[in-house]
Amino acid sequence: MTGTIPFCDETACARAGCTATVCRGAGMPSNQQFFDRSARVIPGGVNSSIRAFKAVGGTPYVVSRAQGAFVYDVEGNELIDLVQSYGAIILGHAHPKVTEAIRTAAGDGTSYGAPTPREMKLAEAISERVPSCERVRFMNSGTEATSTAVRLARGATGRKRIVTFHGNFHGATDALLAAGGSGVATLGLPGTAGVPDEAVANTWVLPYNVVPTLDNDVAAVFVEPVAANMGLVAPAAGFLEGLRAECDRVGALLVFDEVITGFRLGTGGAQAKYDVRPDLTCFGKVIGGGLPIGAVGGRRDIMENLTPLGSVFHAGTLAGNPLATAAGLAALNELNADVYMELMARARRASALLRDACVDAGIAAQFPVVGTLVGMYFGDALHRAPTNFEEAKTTNESLYAQVFHALLSGGVALAPGAYEAVFVGLSHTDAVLDQLADRVATALKGIAR
Ligand SMILES: *Cc1c(COP(=O)(O)O)cnc(C)c1O
Repeated sequence: MTGTIPFCDETACARAGCTATVCRGAGMPSNQQFFDRSARVIPGGVNSSIRAFKAVGGTPYVVSRAQGAFVYDVEGNELIDLVQSYGAIILGHAHPKVTEAIRTAAGDGTSYGAPTPREMKLAEAISERVPSCERVRFMNSGTEATSTAVRLARGATGRKRIVTFHGNFHGATDALLAAGGSGVATLGLPGTAGVPDEAVANTWVLPYNVVPTLDNDVAAVFVEPVAANMGLVAPAAGFLEGLRAECDRVGALLVFDEVITGFRLGTGGAQAKYDVRPDLTCFGKVIGGGLPIGAVGGRRDIMENLTPLGSVFHAGTLAGNPLATAAGLAALNELNADVYMELMARARRASALLRDACVDAGIAAQFPVVGTLVGMYFGDALHRAPTNFEEAKTTNESLYAQVFHALLSGGVALAPGAYEAVFVGLSHTDAVLDQLADRVATALKGIAR
């Protein structure tokens, strides 16, 4: 292992002449110490809520660096990483092509406030691979993509109503942070403090996998075409086609939130896999190669409602950022049909090894696979993969917390929440999956009843 040790006590360590590559010194601050120090200046010690271990208990591991399938915490522990930045990383951490692209771009300056060839090339790459995206506009996160798509859909249609589905996640933007109450067609209620009723008064939250009957005040239907934020829920046969037909019937726009599925399920995303063409698509995660990015792509006539051509405002100081677009393009250039075939095989193997280890340990669990994505469901309330949020919510969260901590102690990092996907990428080679199988089997034996 090579590289620097960014988080030891540099002054003291240098004085002591330490040249170790992994710091195990007595004076080395622990995860706990780093986290406590962060929490004194960052609320809850995290910059994205799910990273806190609130759902599973305990203290987060604090990452000092990552390479391929592995992350290393500040204590020098090596973890096989199944988080992969919640899906932003698909080639593995610090992939040489991506790292090189970022280095080169950084040498040319990091942001100009003017158009660049790099953003043009990434837009072309997306448009070539995803035919529904005749035009592409970049921003800095998936959240910005979905919030821009909301404004664009409303501006383009002159309508207010937005339809979303229970258990789908579209980022931290007010109009899409509605929590439906009970009932079939519920008026949105704020899903978090700080969102006024008015902000979600025009958001309807409906059950996933049921095609709703819409009326002609609906501007857009937002959907995760494969739901990957409530465990992993595949679209039921006919669901996406039904949404397409119903949107066409009432003149509403169909918006696919492919922030996770885009360039992860395959070159053309979920829309190619299920052969349903949305009007607009939101991207993030993979298209930035691990740097901050978001994009909205879609039909030319709709996209041209955005300023400066149309009247729907969009702007961003760092939008189309040279580093992010360079990293994203480098990542997309590594991804082709063969790679996705390989990733599917690895997803199946990861699912199988997790299932086998759970069976051996007497733990009831499901690890559904959709293409290259793997989900988790714990407990015996269901004996198959969930098909909607009601079912997904019956997962045994306390059992998940036990499994999570057993795996973390055994050198495997899952996301600290029972509803997240398991991310397997190009760096999870057969050798890594062998190692994963060993670690998981050993770790879960420890909690077998
Ligand atoms: C992660 C995610 C978002 C939000 O993207 P950020 O870059 O975190 O803002 C939106 N939609 C889906 C489906 C996501 O998984």
